[in-house]
Amino acid sequence: MKMSNMYMPTLREVPSEAEIASHQLLLRAGMMRKLVSGVYSYLPLGFRVINKIEQIVRGEMDRAGSQEVLMSAIQPKELWEESGRWADFGPEMFRLNDRHGREFCLGPTHEEIFTDLIRNELKSYKQLPMNIYQIQTKYRDEKRPRFGLMRSREFIMKDAYSFDKDLEGMNTSYMDMWKAYEKSFERCGLDFRVVEGDAGAMGNGDSHEFMAMSDVGESAIAYCNDCDYSATDEKAQVVYDVKSSVNYSLEREEVHTPNTKTIEELVKFFNIEASNFVKTLLYKAKEDIIAVLLPGDRELNETKLINYLNIPEHELELLDEDNIKKVTRAEVGFAGPIGIHQDVRILMDSRIKDMKNFIIGANKTDYHIKNVNTEDFIGEEVDDLLLVKLGDKCPKCEAELAIDRGIEVGNIFQLGTKYSDGLNATFLDENGKAQKFVMGSYGIGITRTMAAIVEQSHDEKGIIWPLSVAPYHVIVTIINPKKEDQMELGQKLYEELLDRGIEVILDDRKERPGVKFTDAELIGIPLRVTVGRDAKDGIVEFSIRGEEEKKNIKTDEVFENVK
Ligand code: ATP
Ligand code: MG
Ligand code: MG
Ligand code: MG
Repeated sequence: MKMSNMYMPTLREVPSEAEIASHQLLLRAGMMRKLVSGVYSYLPLGFRVINKIEQIVRGEMDRAGSQEVLMSAIQPKELWEESGRWADFGPEMFRLNDRHGREFCLGPTHEEIFTDLIRNELKSYKQLPMNIYQIQTKYRDEKRPRFGLMRSREFIMKDAYSFDKDLEGMNTSYMDMWKAYEKSFERCGLDFRVVEGDAGAMGNGDSHEFMAMSDVGESAIAYCNDCDYSATDEKAQVVYDVKSSVNYSLEREEVHTPNTKTIEELVKFFNIEASNFVKTLLYKAKEDIIAVLLPGDRELNETKLINYLNIPEHELELLDEDNIKKVTRAEVGFAGPIGIHQDVRILMDSRIKDMKNFIIGANKTDYHIKNVNTEDFIGEEVDDLLLVKLGDKCPKCEAELAIDRGIEVGNIFQLGTKYSDGLNATFLDENGKAQKFVMGSYGIGITRTMAAIVEQSHDEKGIIWPLSVAPYHVIVTIINPKKEDQMELGQKLYEELLDRGIEVILDDRKERPGVKFTDAELIGIPLRVTVGRDAKDGIVEFSIRGEEEKKNIKTDEVFENVK
């Protein structure tokens, strides 16, 4: 491709909406553009990278014996009702109706759809194991889309589903996918860790997450330096202290407070959107003060709360509402700790009017942090609070756990029979008896992987693509296209590289050399050939993006260097 024809709208300025390197650089390098929040268009260079990542993943999936299909993004409600997830999935699901009022969603994942695909036609144990996958657009109406491709509302996922006749088979399929994932991410040039995860919305068996290491990662990973233990912080039940960007100096102490539940747990339990928390009620349960911000029917909520806390009814006591009458404006939703120690309560009450999207303490069931000066946190947003580990022990060897941040680029799940039960998907075993498929599901965020690669591989000048996913391998830059010898040599090299099957772009634009170098560095093409003054002697300059060294070489040496 000649850059004079290319649609590559690079930006000199850092777009103000972009906070992290990958978001900034992918925009600046003209690789993508935002359509609306969390929805992006992929431009020629960016699309090539996506295709490269897809091709790597495809290769490893095929090698592992998985077969590619393509399913629709539109999914009927009925299938999700069979699994019970239509209600469970909550506001993250994009829902729509057709002209007849029939309900659909835009698929956030495809367990139901793949189970439905095979349930009437995959009939015999002889056909098992079976593994099918797709690379397809997924939709999740994320509460807080951000960081560009990292957390978007429309994104590309590779999702695979395995069907086995028994648990042993599922374990083998799971390990095969694990290996395929490791190979895929290695080939993408990522530094990653595999950690134990929670199955969450997918199932209830084992799960592992593939985390690209990065300080801007939204996931925290707890790992042991003395043994091979590693898990998400949630799975490892790491206890956190909460620290905001605002300084605070109060003494912290972790205290055991039975009945303390995290906000997340409560939101899940009451099955409501956090933004529906509009009314604060303070309860006393046993010795603890529990602040609950709930909408709607108080009596019903109290019953739910009693069930949830698992206490006798008389132990839940509604506290004086007077000092919380000021709650006129819980702007973004819930404001404040669900389980909170008495020490903190007064402060919270007096400030609650101004609180906004705020969480503190109670980051672990039955625990919270004592002596927190809530004033420091007012106005801070949940996601921006820095979590500081209080210290936890490795469940395997008791050593101190280390904490790092990671980007979840892949996730594998042992589903068991969750979906084959729900959707009644059976095959006939050796004895002609109907059995439920034992399933697994496996996801890779293709577009998130692209962002993770940029996070791990960039400098102040721009992206440094690993060769395996680079939009082009080589960029030939003609310093002065007005000089015939330069133009000629550049063109010749370009054609010859193309003949050899090398993916090359030719910067033949009538731009200043500075502009060309800046763009080349920004878009991160790994191998660079510069055709300048020495063209008349058949000499060009060769360099590798991200490395200092530049060497003058003869034209025919170019081919040895770009192999
Ligand atoms: P997260 O914890 O980041 O919300 P998830 O656990 O909900 O992700 P999965 O359901 O496991 O995601 O989906 C499989 C993969 O799809 C993830 O590992 C991730 O790489 C990718 N993915 C999930 N949500 C998004 C998103 N909003 N934007 C981009 N990629 C995503
Ligand atoms: Mg999610
Ligand atoms: Mg996750
Ligand atoms: Mg996941």
